Amino acid sequence: MYDIIGDIHGCYDELDKLLTKLGYCYHLESDKSINHPTRKAIFVGDLIDRGPNSPAVLSLVMEMVKGGAALCVLGNHDDKLRRYLKGNKIKINNGLQSTIDQLEKTKEFSKNGPHSARHMDFGKLQKFLEGLPTQLLLDDGKLLVAHAGLKEKYHGVHNKKSRAKALYGETTGEKDADGYPVRKDWASKYTGDRVIVHGHVRGEEVRIKNKVYNLDTSCVYGGKLTALRYPEMEIVSVDALKAHWESKKLTV
Ligand code: MN
Repeated sequence: MYDIIGDIHGCYDELDKLLTKLGYCYHLESDKSINHPTRKAIFVGDLIDRGPNSPAVLSLVMEMVKGGAALCVLGNHDDKLRRYLKGNKIKINNGLQSTIDQLEKTKEFSKNGPHSARHMDFGKLQKFLEGLPTQLLLDDGKLLVAHAGLKEKYHGVHNKKSRAKALYGETTGEKDADGYPVRKDWASKYTGDRVIVHGHVRGEEVRIKNKVYNLDTSCVYGGKLTALRYPEMEIVSVDALKAHWESKKLTV
C-alpha cells in the first residue's frame, strides 16, 4: 500500500536507486513522472540540504505528489527553505546554503530537462512547500507519519504546538556534548496501536520502539536511504554512494 521513505537531504541518485528497487517506474506515456502500479510513496520530509542535488529531489517529489504517486510531510529543513522563499529573516546554516546555490544554478537549465538538471520554478516550489502537511493520518487512522514523530496527544491536532512537535520532535531544551539537542524518549513509553513513522534523528539502522519507526538511516552522511513498506513492515534500503556531508556523530 505505502512505501514510506526516510530523510533524503538532496541525495537524488540514492533516491532514484531506492525507487527503482521498490518497483517504481517511469510512467509509460511520459518520461517525466515516476509511479508504482499499486503503491504510493510517502516522504517523511527533509528532502533537501547537505546533499549534492536538492533541486532534483524537490523536482521529482513535486511531480510525484502532483501526479498522485506520492504524499509528503514537511521536514524542518524544508520548512526553513519555505521561510527563506517567503522572504523571512532566517539564519542560513545546516546545509541550507548548498540548497540555495543548487537552486540558483537550475536557472541555467531547461524547463523540460531531466529532474537532475531541470529549471526550478521558485513560485511553484514555494507553493508546494506551503501546501505540505506536518502530519498525515493514513490507513483509516492506523498509521501516522510526521517528520520528527509525534506523541499521541498531538495526532490529528493542528495548531502551532503540534506543528512544532511534528517538525522538531520532543527535546528537553538542553544540548549534549556535541551540541545536539537532547531528546525525550517518548517512543519507549508508547503503548498505542497506531503505527508512527518518522525520520529526523539520524542513526545507522531503522530504530523500532513499540510501534514507532525511525527511518533516518543517515544517507547524506554515507549511511543508507531507507523505505518501510507498509503494511508489510518490510525494510528496503540502498547504500549511500558516498558520504556527502561530514558528520561529528552518526548515532543519536
Ligand atoms: Mn533530517
